[in-house]
Order: sequence, then C-alpha cells, then structure tokens
Amino acid sequence: MAEQEASGLQHLLSTIQNSHDKEVILNVLSILTGLLSIGTDRRIHYMISKGGSEALLQALMNAAQTAQPDYNILLPLLRLLAKVGQRDRKFGQKVQKLEAIDVTLSLARKNLTHHLNLIHCLWVLRVYASSVSAGTKLGINGAMELLFKVITPYTKKHSRTVRAAIGVLAALLKSKSNSRRAVNRGYLCELLRLYQDWQRCDASNRFIHIRRGLLLCLKHITNIQSARETFLGAHGMEILFTSVQDCLDNKPLDPIVTTVSQILRKCFPKRPLPLATLHSSYCFSLPGSVVSELPRGGPEDDYEDDGEEEVEKDLHNEEVERKEEDDDLETDVNKLNSKPDLDRPEDELQQYETMCPELSLTFQELETVTEDKKGSEEVPGSVRGTYSQVIPNAAVMKQQHRRHRDQSAMGPEPGETSFKTSVQNWAKKGKCTEAPALGKKAMGESARDIDALGEREELCRSQPPLLHHLLKEASWDTRMFHTHCASCFGPSPLGEVGASDIVTKLLERHQGNIPFHSPHFYMARAASTKSILDYRVLAFPDFWGHHPPPHNQCLLQRKDGVQRAKIFEDVRRLIQPGDVIDKVVFDLDECSPSITDAPDCLRFFSKFESGNLRKAIQVRRFEYDLIMNADVNSVQHHQWFYFEVSAMKPAIPYRFNIINCEKVNSQFNYGMQPVMYSVKEALCGKPRWIRAGYDICYYKNHYRRSAAAAGGVRGKSYYTLTFTITFPHGEDVCYLAYHYPYTYSTLMSHLDILEETRNPKKVYYRQQMLCQTLGGNPCPLLTITAMPETKSSSDLEEFSNRPYVVLMARVHPGESNASWVMKGTMEFLVSSDPIAELLRKCFIFKILPMLNPDGVINGNHRCSLSGDDLNRQWLAPSCQLHPTIYHTKGLLYYLCSIGRAPLVFCDYHGHSQKKNVFLYGCSIKETLWQAGCTINTAVVTEDVGYRTLPKILDKVAPAFVMSSCNFLVEKSRESTARVVVWREIGVLRSYTMENTYCGCSHGLYKGLQIGTRELEEMGAKFCLGLLIMQLKALPCSKKLMAQAAALLDLEEEIEDRWSQRSSSTSSLEIEDEPPFGEDIDYNTDSCSDQEGDFSELDEEIQQISMRAEGEREEEGAGEGQSCSFSVFGGFYISSQQAANSKGLPLPSVPLGVFAGCESSPA
Ligand SMILES: [Zn+2]
Repeated sequence: MAEQEASGLQHLLSTIQNSHDKEVILNVLSILTGLLSIGTDRRIHYMISKGGSEALLQALMNAAQTAQPDYNILLPLLRLLAKVGQRDRKFGQKVQKLEAIDVTLSLARKNLTHHLNLIHCLWVLRVYASSVSAGTKLGINGAMELLFKVITPYTKKHSRTVRAAIGVLAALLKSKSNSRRAVNRGYLCELLRLYQDWQRCDASNRFIHIRRGLLLCLKHITNIQSARETFLGAHGMEILFTSVQDCLDNKPLDPIVTTVSQILRKCFPKRPLPLATLHSSYCFSLPGSVVSELPRGGPEDDYEDDGEEEVEKDLHNEEVERKEEDDDLETDVNKLNSKPDLDRPEDELQQYETMCPELSLTFQELETVTEDKKGSEEVPGSVRGTYSQVIPNAAVMKQQHRRHRDQSAMGPEPGETSFKTSVQNWAKKGKCTEAPALGKKAMGESARDIDALGEREELCRSQPPLLHHLLKEASWDTRMFHTHCASCFGPSPLGEVGASDIVTKLLERHQGNIPFHSPHFYMARAASTKSILDYRVLAFPDFWGHHPPPHNQCLLQRKDGVQRAKIFEDVRRLIQPGDVIDKVVFDLDECSPSITDAPDCLRFFSKFESGNLRKAIQVRRFEYDLIMNADVNSVQHHQWFYFEVSAMKPAIPYRFNIINCEKVNSQFNYGMQPVMYSVKEALCGKPRWIRAGYDICYYKNHYRRSAAAAGGVRGKSYYTLTFTITFPHGEDVCYLAYHYPYTYSTLMSHLDILEETRNPKKVYYRQQMLCQTLGGNPCPLLTITAMPETKSSSDLEEFSNRPYVVLMARVHPGESNASWVMKGTMEFLVSSDPIAELLRKCFIFKILPMLNPDGVINGNHRCSLSGDDLNRQWLAPSCQLHPTIYHTKGLLYYLCSIGRAPLVFCDYHGHSQKKNVFLYGCSIKETLWQAGCTINTAVVTEDVGYRTLPKILDKVAPAFVMSSCNFLVEKSRESTARVVVWREIGVLRSYTMENTYCGCSHGLYKGLQIGTRELEEMGAKFCLGLLIMQLKALPCSKKLMAQAAALLDLEEEIEDRWSQRSSSTSSLEIEDEPPFGEDIDYNTDSCSDQEGDFSELDEEIQQISMRAEGEREEEGAGEGQSCSFSVFGGFYISSQQAANSKGLPLPSVPLGVFAGCESSPA
C-alpha cells in the first residue's frame, strides 16, 4: 500500500518535471496545492523526501526559460516552491545545483512593475536566501541592487511588495559577505533613512511589519564590525533610540521596540571593564611557585572583534550543544568499572588513624568522655594569648605559608591536634571586655555616648520610628564594625573604650536572641581567622546573627519589559550623557578611603570576611555600577558578592548594576532576589537577611574580556545583574549579598555552640583538624555518633562497627546555601530529637563542613587560594596545593583500607541555574544507556541501591525533587568528589547534593524563594532520609526497629506510595523555565526573534491568494494579471474535484498519497 502511494506521488512529480503540456501541469499543480494546503507539515516533508523540491525547481526552470513565460503556471508553481522550499533543509543546495538562482532573479527583474508576479518571485527568493550559500550567490549576482529598486520610502501603494522585498533583504543580510557588500555600497545608511521615513510617516501604525522588517535588516547587517562602525558614525544609536521613545508602552509596537533594543545593545561600543587589571585584587603567593602563571589580560588587548563568527553557526547551535552533552558521558566501561591504583604510598594512610578515635575507643576513655569535661578547661589567659598571636599581617601570613610548605614536604600531621574551641571559658563569663583584642583596633573609631545609645536602644523597642531619627544622629553603627584597615587609617585617637562598651551594652540586650548563634563566640573566632587582607572589621550580620523571617518570600514576579527598560536606560548613558556622573566611589585597589565621603553618595565597603565588592561607580545620582572581585589568583569566577552600603536616603529607589557577571543565564531572571540585611532593623528586633530588590534582570552587557584574559576565547562577554532597592530606613547600614552569607568564623562559632549544647552522655562528638589550609586556617573534621549504651565490650564493639556516613560542604566558597544545609544537618545530628538519637545509633558521621575555608574567608566564589576549583582535583590532589582535598581523600582511603568504606558519601553544593534540591549520583548502566551505547549492560552488574536515598528524600524533604536527579558519569566531572569517591573508594551511594539559590517549583514550597530555614530543614531531612534508607535495607536490631516503628509511622506510607507509583526509570527531565511575556535575551545577540519561522510567509501567501480574486486593492492590476487571477480562482476547489473534472491521466490515488504518511514516522 505504502509503495503504491509513493509511486502515485512520484508519478505526479515526474509528470510535472517532464511534461510540457500546460493543462497537465496546471492540473498537477492544482492537486499538489490542494494536498499541501491541508494536513500538517509532515505531508510536505514526505514530498520533499520523494524529490518534490527538485521536481518543482525543474518545472520552474522549464516554465521560466521560455520566450514567453506562462504566469498561469509560474504563479502557482512559485507559491508551491515557497511553501515546500522553506521546509527543505537542503533547498539551498538543490537550488544551486539546478541553477535556479539566476533564473528566478531574472524573472523578478522582468516583473519590476508587475507587482503580483514580482511578489511571487520575492517569496521564492526569500526562501533561497535563507540558505547561507544560496544567499551569498544571490548577493553576488545583484539581488540586493534589485531589492533596493523595490524597497521605497513610505508609500501606501504596493506595500506588500515592499514588505516582501524587505523580507528577502533581511534574509540575505544574514550572510556576512552580503552584509559587507551592503555596507560598502552604502545600503546601511539607506536602510536607516528608509526606517526613519516609514517611522515618521506611519503615524497610524499600519505598517509595523515594514518598519520591523527594516529593523531586522539593520539587526543582521550589524553583525559585522564594519557595519557597527558605520552605524555609529551615521548616528544610528541616536536615531533608533529616539524613534521608540514615545512608543515604549504601546503593546502592538513591542516587536519594534524589542528589535531596536537588540540593535542598540549590539552596536553599543564594546569596552573592557573599567579596571586596571582583571586579576583579583587579592594575590596569594603559593608554596613552591614564585611567578604566577596567570594569563595576561589588560585592557589593551582586543575586545571588539567579536560577534561575527557566531552568526552563521546559529542555526545548529542547539543540536551541537545536545551532542556535546552526550559526548561528555563516559562510555568506556573499563573506566567506569575499574578501580585505579592508590594515588600515594600505602603507608601514608596510617596517619589517618588518629582521625578515627572512635575506632579505638577504650573503656577508660569512655569514662573520661562521659565525665563532665571540666578537665579540659583552659585558662582564660590562653584565649587572649591566641588573639594577640593570630591576627596576622601580610608578612606573618607569608611566613606561615612557608612554614606550612616545609611541613607538607615532611608529610602532614593531620589530626594531631585536637581542634578545641578556646573561647568557651571567657564567653561563659559573659564578659565582653575580654574580647577587645579585636575591639581595640577594629572598633576604635567612634566615640559615642554609651548612655545616649542605651536610651536610644530603649526607644528602639518602644517607638521604632523615633529611634531611627536618633540613630541617624548617632550613626555609631557605621563605624563600629566598619573601620578601615589599620594600615590605611591608623587607630583613631578617640574613644577606643567607648566602642567596645557599646558592643558590650548591645550584646547584653541581645543575649540569646538567636538560636545557635553567639556574637561572643563569633567575635572570638573571627579574631583568629586568617585572611589575605588581614580583616579587622566584622560585618554586622555575621556578628549579630540572622534569624529567618517568619514568612517565606515568594518568587518575584517578573515585570513585563523590565529588561528592555533597563537596556534603554543603559543606552541613554551614551546618547544623553547629561546626567551621567561616572565617579568611582569605592575601590578595593585604592588605599585612600577619601573617595567615599562625597555628599549625596552611597558609601560602600567590603573588607570583611566573605566580602566581595571590588569597585563601585556612581553612574547617575541614584544608580551605581558595581564590579565584583575575581577569585584570588584568578581573573574570573565572578558571582558571589557581599558588601556593606550606607549613607542612603529614605524612600529612594537605588539602582545597582553588577556588571561583571559571567554565567550566560541566572535565576535572577526567574524570580530570585538578592538578600539584604539592615542594621537598624536588626537593632529593632528583626535581625535578618531578607530577599530584597525589584526590577531585577540579568542580561549580556557591552563589556568584553580580552581574548588573553578569557583564556583564548575571543571577546567573552560579561553580563549585568541589575536590581533596584529602596532601603527600609535612611542613614542605615545595610548589607547586600548574592545569598545568605555563612562565613568560616560563623561555622567555627557554630561548632563551638554545638559542642557546648550537646548532651555528652548521649552524643559522641569530636572536633579535630583535618589539616591546615594554604591560608593557615584549620579545616575542621567532626565525628558524631551515639555514645555506647553501656561500657560492655559488646556495646563498644557495636559502637565502633557502625557504618560510616561521610558528609562535606562548601568546597565552592560561593555556595553558602550548602553551609546552611550543613548547619541543619549538624544541629539535627547532635540534637535530642529521638530520630537523631536513632540516627546516631545507626551511623558514625564524619563531617567536613567547610572544605575551602580560605575561599570562603576571602570572598571567592569558586576556587581556593591556589586559584583551583577544588572539586576538580580529586583524581590527583596535591598535598601542597590542595591539602583539604588531599587529606579528605586520604581519610576515605584509610577507611576503605580497613574495610570501612562509607555507606553513603554526600558533598553539599549550591546550584545557580536550577530550582529545588536534588542529588547527582553515579550509575554505569544509566550512563551507558543515556549515551545510547550498544554495550550489553547485562554484563555490567550494578546494585540499584543508589536510587533509594533520593527516592526517600523526594518523599520526606519538601524542597527535594527526584525528577531533577541524575546518575550520569560525565567525563568533565571525572575529577569531582562524587565520581572519584564512587569509582576509587567504591562507594555506591556517592552523591553531590545540589541546593538551589533561588527557590522551589515543586511541592510544599512551590513558588517560594528558599530561605535559611528551608535549607536547614533540608539538612535535617537528609539525615531522616538516611535513617529510613537504613531501616529499609538492613536487618537492624529488634530494639532499633521497634524504636523506629514508633517514631516513623510515615514509613508505611512511603512504602505504599512507592508501590503505587510506576517506577519510571527515566527521570532525566530537563527543567525548562516558564516563558515570560518578554523574551529573555540574555544570551545571543541575534537569535531571539521569530524570523526563522516561516509561518509569517505562509500567511502572507495565503492572504494574497485568498483575496486576489475579490479585491485588488493597492496591488493595482496591471496587464497580464487578470489572467493570473482566474487561475487563483481555480485554486480553492478541492483537489478531488479537480482530479475528477479534468480527467487526469493518473491512477486515482492522489488524496491517498499522504494518508499513510500523516501518522507514519516518516
Ligand atoms: Zn558547587
């Protein structure tokens, strides 16, 4: 049957190619037209696959190359060609092969005054032009000259022809060589003139299509640099910018405004960032290497030459990307399956024994452990001793590095010192005056009346509004935590004591306000934290603490047109520079702080732990461009920001633009807001980070990186994150950050609190030092499990035989969300919650809560002080350069070597592109399967247990979504913790946990932004998931099971729901963000309109055909056209009729020709 159908169609096609009988040809055309006018595109594709394009082209050649071309044949033929050709991906080749280009061009030339004929030719030329090679040929053969004869200034006559000609021109200008030719012949200026003319005369907006068509021509032509230069020289920016100013809010004109904004963005002169060097302001000399090998990248390099390469590749980008993704999958079964050799001598592993004190716990030790730990109490003096010693200056730091290097050369001594908190004692006394080692220098600057402050504080509680006024006068808050480096300032002669007393007073009031936070502990820990800049200033939020707001905050609804509006504001800087100030108001690279004291200007500051802001430029009165600092020893990884801003006016919307973002897209386009902390709010009892800011969007800007700085990639772009903030109070001190900050000192003080608050009779808790970081900070390692029930040897044995769970976080310093999740995990694990008790009885937890302390401290986003992404070093970590990774891997090796490889390994991360929380795991079978490998996966045996935990989490953790998980092993990730721990340590359940920065699109928190409460909950629920997993998998002791059953009646329910659900294995769903009214044009310069879509052309053809019979309107019937119209008339009878009435010499199958292929997978 199918064959017969095919042969029917082929018969038709061969007839039309070969016949010279007018009647026959007309009939076949009529049948084909009828067939293709209904049904889906599949019919057309079927016809293409049977040689339809070639047949029609041949027929065109036959009909056109006669002395007197017959337009009765040509017009329906051209319509068919336009319709079929646009759907034929190889049409361009076919057209060239059959040499149809010149024939069509000359047909058009002959019909310059015959508009109906001409418009048909133009449609087909447009389809030709959509192929780059055919388009280039058209350009060479004079197509553009022809078109400019048709495209006229404003006219009401023949506007359809003009429109069709503009359509061809726009398509032609997608080719670089055509664009060059057009620029050389002055067509760009001509296009600008034409656009201005149509824009001016078309007051009633009848010809939006034509105006937009001209803009599309400009948009394509300006893909080449010479065109952009010509455009700028011809005042194109001003002309286009001005032309849309009065129609910004006119909805029907949106396509015009959008296209104008795209052209303006593209032509905006490219510039390097306003920085002397892209290198991070912070430099750290590495052990073993003197000269930095960073790529040179100054503004002198070329950054303009970009954008041209992209154009002709655009079409297939998506396919390429998908292919690359699949190429990234590891398909070498041996690589997936085999375990590589140890990356170090075996006898090195023995040193890690000290990191597992739980394995050698003896009866005697147990005695001392359960005793109250008074014995370990330190003399208060030792605390102070620590301070004076540990606030290092740069020179001291370097010495320490050297010392560290020597140490590493001799082999590390990890775990040797039990890393004890040394702050408890003085803190317990509640004497803040014990702490002023920090206060003396850091808080010296302000001399204020303590009593007055006390009064204000009182007022704060009773009458907040009044207080704000008073606080404004005092403004102590700015100074207290915000004293610039001593090296810049020198100690203030005034009131050192006063400041610390203020702190004392405040803290007395504040005592115990925030669970698991102690300002005292924080201050003490911060004092011994080592940073490159030797920070002397505390950021208020870290010191004072954060208590999440009682209500969740919704994902921000994106305002329609916000991106466009922001872009026009940006362009206005160039065109109407009248109000542009362009003044640097903060610069990390400048030592002199004097620039910050201008009136009517915000003050910025970022020299504190985790701070990141390099430069602030006041652009307009209430608008600032901000530049983030690159990771230490790097020129990139800009994403994390955290800075202080003060001296604001009340009720003023301030616009902030962070102009050196690097990612091509951001959740800031999908409802995410940055976070803000107000000191005034905090003092009024609302100490909290909240999501803040509106008019938020993220888009590519005009700043470019030089090729050298971009690692060889030409002219890599920067992106702008813009947001507007109206501060809650005037004269406040506020902090803005990418996400809820969580510093190293926060972690260390949190650990202190955990140690203090746990029940030592029940909770076995050890804090050790894994190793020192390059920056000289201890990397903490925790061990948490349940104390043995009794001192009996069987209980001791049970104790040390519990399976291990290894958890870690914050290898990427910008992922502070991971720390909040880890905080939730740790708090839960040491808590008195009965589930936590069970958990401790089931497992020994080894926790590395912060694998990259130096990165966190110094405000990095991605790397360590060595400039390396530590989560890409797991295959062969360097003892010197990546000590935390080296020793974590060593510890895991050790556990493996004694037969105690962890049951579960999980590395907590943050994900900046997706919503929700999910896991990545490792599976050979799923990887091979996804890669489409033909390898017999039955040969590969694999336990599917890696799916259990995420499935459980999907049920118990509201933010968690199973469908976002995947278990693929990518080559590009082969050196990550997850993959290495899976392959080399042999941990089946080895995961990366990805936590959103943004919010949730599923479940209980759907539509909400994530807060610290939800993140902490996730950490706790992860533990619950572990417990359920264990109870399901292993035959636990009866007692345990009974306890569990009492606690977890949800277990049953979970079991039920699982069995109900179809166990669909394909969970590899790609999460697409919902579309907005506005195209989010954050990515490419030229691909976001719908020109590639031919439905417009189809519609146009249809319209003309339909109305041709009746009204002739503006198309002004010329001679020879009446004939054509009669042909039109015959067109809309059904093809069945046509076939019968004309008695076609064909088998009576034509309608059936496509019947089968509609549904068959052609
Ligand atoms: Zn990460």
